[in-house]
Amino acid sequence: MRWTMFDLVIECRCLYEGRLQDLALCIIDGRIADILRTAPSESGSGEVHRIREGIVLPGIVDTHVHMRDPGLTSKEDFGTGTASAAFGGVTCVLDMPNTKPPTIDAASLQDKYEAASTKAHIDHGFYIAISDRTDVEMVTALLMDRRSAVRPAALKAFLGESTGSLRFGDTGALARWAPFLTGTGTVVAVHAEDEDQFATVRTPETDKGVLEWHARRRADVAEASSVRKALASLGPAANRLHILHISSAAGLAAAQGSKATIEVTPHHLFLDIDECKEGLEMEALCKVNPPIRGKDDKAALWRAVLDGRVRTIGSDHAPHLLAEKEEGARSPSGVPGVETMGPLVLKAVKDRRLPLERAVELLSMGPARRFSLSAKGGIRIGMDADLIEIDTSSERRIRAEDLHSRCGWTPYEGMRGIFPTRVYSRGELVVENDSLCSKGGRGRAIGY
Ligand SMILES: [Zn+2]
Repeated sequence: MRWTMFDLVIECRCLYEGRLQDLALCIIDGRIADILRTAPSESGSGEVHRIREGIVLPGIVDTHVHMRDPGLTSKEDFGTGTASAAFGGVTCVLDMPNTKPPTIDAASLQDKYEAASTKAHIDHGFYIAISDRTDVEMVTALLMDRRSAVRPAALKAFLGESTGSLRFGDTGALARWAPFLTGTGTVVAVHAEDEDQFATVRTPETDKGVLEWHARRRADVAEASSVRKALASLGPAANRLHILHISSAAGLAAAQGSKATIEVTPHHLFLDIDECKEGLEMEALCKVNPPIRGKDDKAALWRAVLDGRVRTIGSDHAPHLLAEKEEGARSPSGVPGVETMGPLVLKAVKDRRLPLERAVELLSMGPARRFSLSAKGGIRIGMDADLIEIDTSSERRIRAEDLHSRCGWTPYEGMRGIFPTRVYSRGELVVENDSLCSKGGRGRAIGY
């Protein structure tokens, strides 16, 4: 293949086949069409980007975001949320279904698809929520309708999380979904906290003590119990189970030996109660479900990240407004994080807390494989040219004023991160040197 046929050639040092190599990535129609050892000669019509300082990695695939669109767009929408994602090196997101209306059927899925299609800067897919009352046939029909432009990327079950109509009350009812999961290969992602195991703890009147109270109320036993119940009800179909935001050693132990996969979040890896109390203006900022816990649980999560028990890191980007967080113990749970996840993990790589290959596995390849996003998460011929340029010498302090989520704050204020200097989505630059180069609506719904 002559290089003049390419739309773009990126000459760079990139992570390819498990190690950093100097290569020319040749792109046609947004896909990696060829990977050459020697850069093609200087002639022809294609564009050439020579990356001399940094390294190039696959774009991050964040399979756990809440973009709040439709219905909750005072907090975020697909425009602000996916711009924020892009600035953090995320080139594909899977959006959670607890919007208004909740994503539970064909009509609400269509609403979400339309909201994203005019605003999104990067590619995206959608979860559909199932409860213990959801009709399996209805979801099967949605997934199997090859003519439909809108099909769910995966299922989400809020086990014991009381979010109105989305609440999956009886975890035993997951068993009804086992044949569907096995038959279709769909993944069911679960929020695993068992309400029956929540402790009664006196609610603090002021912001002080919110984090201790929250962590004692929703203790690790509740997480472990829910994980065990989910595994028991799915039986052999547990290989289709993805356990979101495991937060404790007890939760990890409950999943041990099963075929389910595990996600951890950046807030459980990079924050603990003591640090939050010291570093935050308001404790309630870091009120999140499952709760931020102590140093021992955080260390256990890091061990599981390093030894391969954890399959994906997902941001659980859940923006709320500062005014809402001022309600202390009554404030809504959730923290923003889609823009800071990659930068924090890459800084941890620089600090030698985890190897680069492992970070890329957790952020890009692992999530793409788990959710069968075959064109995403890697640098290979035939895959989408979703690429990020990282210059490890350009680390900087994380400040809310530099971030792009509509919520306007970050739990990582003052911590250090390595933000990408360039972000390509299907061969198009969406971010370059702190500027957004793309228009909302260029992002595509994936897999349809
Ligand atoms: Zn979530």
